[in-house]
Amino acid sequence: MVYRELGKTGLKLFPLGIGTVRLPIKNDDFSDVDYEKAINVLRHAIDSGINYIDTGFTYHYNGNGEKAVGMALKDGYRQKVNLGAKLPLWLCNSLEECKDMVEGQLKRMNTDCFDLYFIHALDSESWKKAKSLNILGYIEELKNKGKIKYIGFSFHDNFDVFKEITDSYKWDFCLIQLNYLDTEYQAGIKGLEYAYSKGMGVLIMEPLKGGQLAQEPPENIKEIWNKGEVKRSTVQWGLDFLYNRKEVTCVLSGMNTFEMIDENVAYAENAYPNCISDHDIRLYDEVKEKLTKLIKIPCTRCRYCMPCPFGVDIPANFEYYNTGYMYETIDFTKKFYNRTIFNPKRSTNCTGCRTCVDKCPQNIDIPQFLRKISDEWVIN
Ligand code: SF4
Ligand code: SF4
Repeated sequence: MVYRELGKTGLKLFPLGIGTVRLPIKNDDFSDVDYEKAINVLRHAIDSGINYIDTGFTYHYNGNGEKAVGMALKDGYRQKVNLGAKLPLWLCNSLEECKDMVEGQLKRMNTDCFDLYFIHALDSESWKKAKSLNILGYIEELKNKGKIKYIGFSFHDNFDVFKEITDSYKWDFCLIQLNYLDTEYQAGIKGLEYAYSKGMGVLIMEPLKGGQLAQEPPENIKEIWNKGEVKRSTVQWGLDFLYNRKEVTCVLSGMNTFEMIDENVAYAENAYPNCISDHDIRLYDEVKEKLTKLIKIPCTRCRYCMPCPFGVDIPANFEYYNTGYMYETIDFTKKFYNRTIFNPKRSTNCTGCRTCVDKCPQNIDIPQFLRKISDEWVIN
């Protein structure tokens, strides 16, 4: 088994961790976790060598994912795995509410200590809130009391904000979104390299873009992958892109079947930095170039249009729409969009005020495209 160090913490993680945003569910209802199956899946992951479980209060709504993890970690499983939890700052309006949240998480997950504790989904606005509530002071207090071991954050904003946050504190680790299509999105490769240079461990979310890069690709993309010196499955092309980087500590994947776990663990067992030849590395650029041509909305995701006064996450809406067309996975992506983007972030919350339009360097008629997404994609 190959393990990677989490920054300077001394903690060693298997390069593949299990995320809990896509646990087995019942009746196609995301809030209705199939606890029996979820426990089996999580324990199978641990038995297979995965030593990090990543949770979030909002995964499967109001702590249901955390509850499943708590159930799975009984019978001695807690001692076999590192556990990460996140503070959803947007749901807490005071330090007291943050404290209640953390205590609830410890209780739900049947533990007295989290190995990794994240401030969840930091961006420029929530970072201001974190500072005004002195969240880091509180998290340090938790560390001193032995309730958490290492401190980090997950991130959704641009590189400049990432750098500002990274430079503001001695973080142990961060969690960023990265995959071979999103190398310049949010923190991006630049953020990965920067965090590593500061001695932080880096965990990766959305390595397969919400499962979209795991779908059967269009024929012209398959032809490019088939030129590889090493034969890889579509999923392996996605994961190896990240394992190839020495800066990556652990890639999180939301696996919900034994088969997915077995397949991904097998890849991770050979997941060494520089595992991709120079020839094969060039294929990612070819694939990216082909896929980029299929984009419907020319959004570069610079986020200059943000924030929208009504809370619409403009680039996120455009990203889902574009990805569905790029990968010819419209039905899959539409379903994922409806399960992931809620009000006020959804396109339907756009009032057409046009505050954003002049800020867009690509001259995109933002409200017009948002209306299109509402008409074609939103399932009420
Ligand atoms: S036009 Fe829509 S997206 Fe743009 S700022 Fe107004 S409400 Fe927000
Ligand atoms: S400003 Fe334009 S290009 Fe930039 S994120 Fe907004 S819509 Fe996309």
